[in-house]
Amino acid sequence: MPTDWPAAYLDGETAIRHRAIVRLMREGLEVTPAGGRTRLWPYAQVRQTQGAYAGEEVRLEHGGQMPEVLVVRDLRFLQSLHELAPEFSRRFHNPARRGRRLQLTAVAAGAVIGLSAMMYLWGIPLLAAQVALRVPVAWEEQLGKGVVDHVASPARRCRDPQLVAAIDTILGRLTAAAPRSPYTLRVYVVDMPIVNAFAAPSGSVVIFRGLLQRTDSPEQLAGVLAHELQHVLQRHSTRAIVQHASSGLLIAALTGDVTGPLAYGLEAARVLGHFRYSREAETEADTEGLKMLLAARVDPAGMIAFFEPPKDTADKHEESAADKYLSSHPSDRDRKATLTALVSRHPTQSVTLLPGENWRELRYACGAPGTSLQESPR
Ligand SMILES: [Zn+2]
Repeated sequence: MPTDWPAAYLDGETAIRHRAIVRLMREGLEVTPAGGRTRLWPYAQVRQTQGAYAGEEVRLEHGGQMPEVLVVRDLRFLQSLHELAPEFSRRFHNPARRGRRLQLTAVAAGAVIGLSAMMYLWGIPLLAAQVALRVPVAWEEQLGKGVVDHVASPARRCRDPQLVAAIDTILGRLTAAAPRSPYTLRVYVVDMPIVNAFAAPSGSVVIFRGLLQRTDSPEQLAGVLAHELQHVLQRHSTRAIVQHASSGLLIAALTGDVTGPLAYGLEAARVLGHFRYSREAETEADTEGLKMLLAARVDPAGMIAFFEPPKDTADKHEESAADKYLSSHPSDRDRKATLTALVSRHPTQSVTLLPGENWRELRYACGAPGTSLQESPR
């Protein structure tokens, strides 16, 4: 197998395709654009976004928001990559396995067309729920990673050590008392002024700085986290994506394709960013989230207060600041009544979260000059 392959190279800044040679090395790809300098892309930093399906060129990306791109025509390139760097094989599609995969894909494609037709005809979210239940956890993990890479890339994450420790403590309290789940639950704070939070499949909760700063206590943040974690644990987020994303993603879901979802991260992030869960899903996330708080002995009053509907005569400015998150969480009197009733049925002695910490200061640690956007990995 040759180690040098002709390719097209895009630098991420302009749309000009340069001719390039890509050389397979043990540690990564050596990329030499015609007339340009040679650069090394370590395998661990390369994403394959195309080339898993027949007739597609292999497309590889390197870098964050505006990645550099390589397009390789010859599929044998992937095969020799697998031979040369087997330890990175999970990151790249293996064409040697395509035979089996094609069969699976064909079966799945048939199923998808059938399912999609039914979804469109009768709009049955139930089907999405059925598919979501059969989706392998590994697929959800890859999809969740794709979402986090797009929305909460390391450069955007808030890394104030005190805040990170505080959030880990809150998450630890919530999960210690929760039943075992197949997911690894994580929380990322993104340094953006948006008042929003959402849960990606497989347990990554993304909170934006704007929402964090609106919480009055660690208990309120715990309430938001418990609610979002339930969207993961009840597979609402996976179901939403299966229901609203492209059929390509659906095929990936049904075949358990774990190379595909990474490429769909952006699409999934878009779905989650603009998505409203059904009222049933919200109620379920509320009640299960509240039970999670009670099991963790966190004072539920914070959650109830945070989700309380804005007063009719409330300051319009306040309302618009919180519009996105709170408006996607239908606030009605019933909701508060349900939660309050649930609390009264399960009286618990709560234990203060983060005693001795000044939450009013801590919640502003993200976005404070010099404390955020550091490059150290979390
Ligand atoms: Zn929700």
